[in-house]
Amino acid sequence: MDGFSPPMEAPRQPIGDKPPRVETHDQSRLLTLMRDEGPMSRVELGERLGLPRARLAAEVNRLAELGLVESGGPAASRGGRRSTLVGLSSSLRLLAVDIGATSVGVAVTDPYCEVLEHLVEECEVRSGPVAVLDRAVALSTLALAKVPGRLLAAGIGLPGPVSFREGMPVAPPIMPGWDRFPVRDRLASQWGCPVTVDNDVNAMALGERHAGVARSLDDLIFVKVGTGIGCGILLGGRVYRGVAGTAGDIGHIRLDDFGPACACGESGCLEAYFGGAALARDALTLARSGRSEFLAESLSRHGELSARDVALATGAGDFAAVNLVREGGRRLGQVVASLVSFINPGMVVIGGGVARLGHQLLAEVRSSVYRRSMPLATGNLPIVLSELGDLAGVIGAAWTASERAFAVTT
Ligand SMILES: [Zn+2]
Repeated sequence: MDGFSPPMEAPRQPIGDKPPRVETHDQSRLLTLMRDEGPMSRVELGERLGLPRARLAAEVNRLAELGLVESGGPAASRGGRRSTLVGLSSSLRLLAVDIGATSVGVAVTDPYCEVLEHLVEECEVRSGPVAVLDRAVALSTLALAKVPGRLLAAGIGLPGPVSFREGMPVAPPIMPGWDRFPVRDRLASQWGCPVTVDNDVNAMALGERHAGVARSLDDLIFVKVGTGIGCGILLGGRVYRGVAGTAGDIGHIRLDDFGPACACGESGCLEAYFGGAALARDALTLARSGRSEFLAESLSRHGELSARDVALATGAGDFAAVNLVREGGRRLGQVVASLVSFINPGMVVIGGGVARLGHQLLAEVRSSVYRRSMPLATGNLPIVLSELGDLAGVIGAAWTASERAFAVTT
């Protein structure tokens, strides 16, 4: 079978150092199936995709020529001749970058989106695209040097609305200087591979679906509570981005016209009540007014307070801090309940830095949602914490990059 010549298709490219191009839809389906379910025997690949033997052999051989797949160990025998497994080439690498409001994380993964190396450092997104992307590139060089291989594609998540098609952020509220900065094109020319740019919460949702708590679920929402609050929406296994890329921007849903001022210029937004900055602000009030001994002590030790201190105080059973989290969880739950009624997801995943508030927060969101939503929508609805934590964003960014790398390009 190995000598079978491939059927005539589009002109075949020479094989060089550039990332290989996938040539046919069947090649694309083969790569995607192996990425999602691991190495398989040729027989199984053929059965799963409904490909005749000759066609399958031709495509697998061509993928091997391109350096995209390789033979692995022997497959479990199903009687008769033992066959070998075919898997994605172990030397392939995906690069994933997760830019947060105050940090930049870089991961190098294998072609199954399994993280091989992960580096994170503090970095203010406010310092602008050139400085931040230069840090990301420098970290990527370090990470790639530790686990060298052939770079297939890179994915990047940004903490604001993104035009996925154009590969750039669009009017992001907490990212001065980033509006319409050509992130994708700049990085693609530096890395010499295809680059995808997405909103960080969309990446987290995809990460949890590929390798975390939402494995193989097609309809789910991922709510990120960090410095800001956002929501990734997966419908039918695909990210729903909306017309301008702002779908899921729930942080600025207004809960009260006369509520606290928000970073977006409005007032009473969900984020102004329960984002990381709002928690730090309320914690400061509790510390200064003497209502929380725990927070007052943290303040005198560090000179400032953050959502992390609230989490510590809650863990220590500090009454005022617990109340703060309850109140915030109730408001978040109010918004999530509306989403549940509207979308009817199969799961709600809660992640991001403030998710470290953990079970207290979860309990409050759950009770809010179960009380406010239709029983039919919540009957089988798990509301859970992110399983991948800090890795959700990079795994999702790698997954999106692999989608791009495994798609047919002309
Ligand atoms: Zn707002």
